[in-house]
Amino acid sequence: MSRPTSATIHLDALRHNLARVRALAPRSRVMAVVKADGYGHGLERVARALEGADAFGVASLADAERLRAAGLSQRIVLLSGFDEPADLPLLRRLSLDTVVHHAAQLAMLEADAGGAPIRCWLKIDSGMHRLGFPPDQAAAVHARLRALPGVDADIALMTHFASSDEFAGDQTREQIARFAAATATLSGERSLANSAAVLGWPDAHADWVRPGGALYGISVVGGKTGADFGLRPAMTLSSRLIAINRVRGGEKVGYGASWQCPEDMPVGVVALGYGDGYPRHAPSGTPMLVNGVRAPIIGRVSMDLITLDLRGAPDARVGDPVVAWGEGLPVEEVAAAAGTIGYELVCSITRRVRFVEC
Ligand SMILES: *Cc1c(COP(=O)(O)O)cnc(C)c1O
Repeated sequence: MSRPTSATIHLDALRHNLARVRALAPRSRVMAVVKADGYGHGLERVARALEGADAFGVASLADAERLRAAGLSQRIVLLSGFDEPADLPLLRRLSLDTVVHHAAQLAMLEADAGGAPIRCWLKIDSGMHRLGFPPDQAAAVHARLRALPGVDADIALMTHFASSDEFAGDQTREQIARFAAATATLSGERSLANSAAVLGWPDAHADWVRPGGALYGISVVGGKTGADFGLRPAMTLSSRLIAINRVRGGEKVGYGASWQCPEDMPVGVVALGYGDGYPRHAPSGTPMLVNGVRAPIIGRVSMDLITLDLRGAPDARVGDPVVAWGEGLPVEEVAAAAGTIGYELVCSITRRVRFVEC
């Protein structure tokens, strides 16, 4: 029998979530962010399901090439831009948009012999201090880009938020104001909002929203799940029980004997582990679902297997289905238990896991 571990990708959930984003930001176009292999859901599969998006955002030229090879003709934006002069002919051939966030990229464009105009997104650092030109350079960079025959005259303006998941915080309001001030005199479409800003900062929706996580049904807003915003999980990671053992009270379970049975009890063994991408640091108590009933992890997650406390699921049998996250068990809840965010979990599924579409 093959290993029963699988990641089911719910294509209807992806489409539903795109519709939900459109309903939340009705005046904006949608750049669906599909970096990191579509947040681990599979790049081409996600892009096909989201073909109604107005553009795709990727982190690498290689991902853009894959989308074109898959026949997708939407605009594709390189969110970190290009790396070297030799990338420019490829951008033109594949008709890719690029973010321009650094003087080195501007210099490469100015040294370029030209050709079909490349569409650029001028990125301003409004306070996150990761990528982007300082606000006081925005106008000068905009003018230099506009002077280039090899650059499309319509330059979009963008920035990225550091903490838009904090709906009551000041930083996002400050970033919106700094971006507005830096770009007040400049022409071009505007884009600020990641998923959390789509959900909580309508003032930032502007011409283009750039959701990633929301399209996969995942919230990064503290204490909330995607379902709280009308989103549906796009991935269910599941497996099966391959053993159930009765273990005596006082006996210890798993590597390092980190968990001790408080009484005689049934311990389930699931064919899933960190070799599949389940986080090894998920502690005892992290929930799973056995036949739809919650059963906490006990002991250490190992490479291929995880042990579960089945006292709350006394009817469980070998072969029964187990859900690690997804339908019925929000990935945000598992992530919170493991000290991370849902994005990291869905991005970490390994190649031995079978992907199924439904
Ligand atoms: C990843 C990314 C996004 C999407 O962020 P989410 O939180 O997943 O919505 C948007 N814009 C940029 C520049 C990004 O790098």
